[in-house]
Amino acid sequence: MVCPFCQAQETSVVDSRKNSEGNSVRRRRSCITCKLRFTTYEKASIGLIVIKRSGNREEFNIEKLYSGVQYAFGGQELSEKKLKSLIESIYKDIEGHGSKVHSEVIGETVLSHLKEVNEVAYVRFASVYKEFSDASDFEKEVAEFN
Ligand SMILES: [Zn+2]
Repeated sequence: MVCPFCQAQETSVVDSRKNSEGNSVRRRRSCITCKLRFTTYEKASIGLIVIKRSGNREEFNIEKLYSGVQYAFGGQELSEKKLKSLIESIYKDIEGHGSKVHSEVIGETVLSHLKEVNEVAYVRFASVYKEFSDASDFEKEVAEFN
């Protein structure tokens, strides 16, 4: 990490702590050269970019995938374990397309997985997906990851 004061390359970490959710780490660093201190934040990121129909880009949000799939299953029984493994296999497929993925690819991937797993969920997701697929703006939460 380059020192923001003198641009020296070498710094040492004097303090390191996680935030309350445990999803980011704050590090207090000291520059070896100028001895000034600064802070860095480390946060995990999926690092997959979604290219939306509008051309806008945003970081892939796994929570939106969860809510979309959960919506598809409606009130049907779906154990936490099954949901997790379904999301994982959908995500692996999406990731296989590279570091930038078009929203249509995500929608189609979800559909193909649901089709294998549960016909009702597939139809439910498909009806919402198709209905919104021509609109430029997806306001409904279920279609948000598009
Ligand atoms: Zn420095």
